[in-house]
Amino acid sequence: MNTFIHYHTLDLRIHDSPSLHIAHQPNNPSTHFLPLYILDPRQLDLTHLPNAPKSPSPHSLNSATHQDPSARYDPKQTRCSPLSRVGGFHRTSPYRLKFLLEAVFSLRESYRASGGDMVIAYGLPEVILPKIVDSLKADGGVEGVSAQREYTLEEISNYRRINNALNNEEIWFNDSKTLIPPGHLPFNPESHTPDVYTEFRKKVEGLGIGLNEMLIKPLDTAEVKDGQVKYNGRIKPFPEIDVDKIELKDGQGGFISSDDTINSVYSKLVKPLFDNLPIGGWSSSSSDSGDTLPDLHPKSAIPFKGTEPAALERVDDYIGIPLEDKVGWKGGMKAKHYKETRNGLLGEGFSTKFSTWLSLGVISPKVVGWRVGELLDAQGRDKEVWKNVYWILFELLWRDYFQYTLNPNSSLFNPDGFSSQISTYPQDLRPNPSEWHQANLEDPEDKARRWCEGRTGVPFIDANMRELIETGWMSNRGRQNVASFLTKDLYCDWRIGAEFFEMHLIDYDTCSNWGNWQYQAGVGNDPRSSRQFNPIKQANDYDVDNGFVRTWVTELEDVGDEYVQTPWLINDKSKLKEYPTKPIVELPSWKKHYPNQPSTRNRGKAKGNGKGPKGGKQGAE
Ligand code: FAD
Repeated sequence: MNTFIHYHTLDLRIHDSPSLHIAHQPNNPSTHFLPLYILDPRQLDLTHLPNAPKSPSPHSLNSATHQDPSARYDPKQTRCSPLSRVGGFHRTSPYRLKFLLEAVFSLRESYRASGGDMVIAYGLPEVILPKIVDSLKADGGVEGVSAQREYTLEEISNYRRINNALNNEEIWFNDSKTLIPPGHLPFNPESHTPDVYTEFRKKVEGLGIGLNEMLIKPLDTAEVKDGQVKYNGRIKPFPEIDVDKIELKDGQGGFISSDDTINSVYSKLVKPLFDNLPIGGWSSSSSDSGDTLPDLHPKSAIPFKGTEPAALERVDDYIGIPLEDKVGWKGGMKAKHYKETRNGLLGEGFSTKFSTWLSLGVISPKVVGWRVGELLDAQGRDKEVWKNVYWILFELLWRDYFQYTLNPNSSLFNPDGFSSQISTYPQDLRPNPSEWHQANLEDPEDKARRWCEGRTGVPFIDANMRELIETGWMSNRGRQNVASFLTKDLYCDWRIGAEFFEMHLIDYDTCSNWGNWQYQAGVGNDPRSSRQFNPIKQANDYDVDNGFVRTWVTELEDVGDEYVQTPWLINDKSKLKEYPTKPIVELPSWKKHYPNQPSTRNRGKAKGNGKGPKGGKQGAE
């Protein structure tokens, strides 16, 4: 018996799987295939599982040095705790936990449906993985351990600790995280990733925006059959390994058995989240009894499961499917209107919603990119289709860009972000982190706390924050607005926002979240660091029929359409019920967008489809 081990991290899928591909090459000497996932106490509080390892407290800078931009986190210490460093928030919510468990359990199902199996363990990976290797070695041998290459410090440190524990037996890394793998980039990402996205994109587009040019064909390792994802071929057998016989010391963790259901595991992992409620609480749809996975919020824009079949079905639904002749195309109407509708705020149709699956690697970015390329080819590069469909690649390149901006010295979590490392960054516009308001979350009237709880008195901001808490989701338009509001209007430390998002977002991705937050706070990869969103103009442009604010800020039901975005302007304040009668801040630049100003007289007439204006870049207006 010679076993090929694949350690799953943020690649919870069997389609486009380099490890499955390599393990099944004719010249690969392995005889067995063992996939493994480990729940890590540095990320999740595992207290209620049997023989649970303790979770460490966060390594944090003390509060005095939080505000000092020269104070640095030790990158080797990473974040190493299920609580965040600045706000002390949980690093997951019940919804995020639900998506993670759905992805992990469905991965095991995919392996089982293909004739294999998977080990799900909990504990420190550098303890669990070597134990499994030793057990397999005692019974034959181990061909090697493979994993997806990651770019973030926490994951890199994890691999380093595992390598040390395995006596420096190297992990084989594959590059399946991004749309454009590092080796395919026209520059070395470790030293030459451009400081600005546009430059990055132009260099990548220089490869040629087509199949087998910029886009690389995904590996054909699995497909959906009868509602399940199955390996394309005969999977190598799962080794005979009895995990119950693997000796783990007190507090070193254990294994999820076949009898453990997704609900039983969820109920144990969710308990610490309800024992210590965060500000703003959890979604009203996730009950504190926590015996079963929470229901989706009825107004969720993501009515999907975190599973691999659901992800692949969404790709078929959104982008469509090539017909046998490779010329015809079935479906894809959503993709064909992507750029026009992507800034909409309500419902599943307006943007791809791929991010949740991408963040856990349940779907491969190459699969999405390739399908987009096929649609572009099938449409003969029709101008209208091209404009809309290509934009999906444009956005996926943002995701890649944020992954590649990271290097071993990068300042993803430090107050001054990347700005200190970017020579072209406009010095005179740089915000001074020592002037940022530091949140006192104990105080119900603290600015940052009111932002977190959706109580700023600015309905467009509050609606977005409430959607985040209630559903674990917020549109890109909403994210840009609330981030600008917290950092540019309230001048709060951006890391509170990034941590609050990390807790709630079901599509949380370290690079995309912290990179975008830096960008919005004016300390990231943005040459126009002072850009600021005007929430009143944004509401006028993107929530034309007020449907979004009415969905989430229900206290305003008695306020007429004219003032629902600026309720502080009405005379009869009793109509506001419990809603703040004054906004937390009011900027002079907002006033020209108030009702009955020359700029708002035609409000809703030109753009009255409730889906917002066309296009819209990652920029402020
Ligand atoms: P679509 O509009 O359909 O875009 C397709 C894909 O492109 C997305 O799935 C995503 O993978 C990628 N993408 C789109 N916009 C961006 C962007 N600005 N940056 C990076 N990738 C992008 N995205 C995350 O995946 N995880 C996060 O934790 C996250 N945090 C964010 C925090 C802030 C403050 C901001 C402003 C943006 C954040 N984003 C994050 C980016 C973006 O908002 C989401 O990727 C997008 O809203 C997801 O919806 P979608 O899949 O329908 O996107």
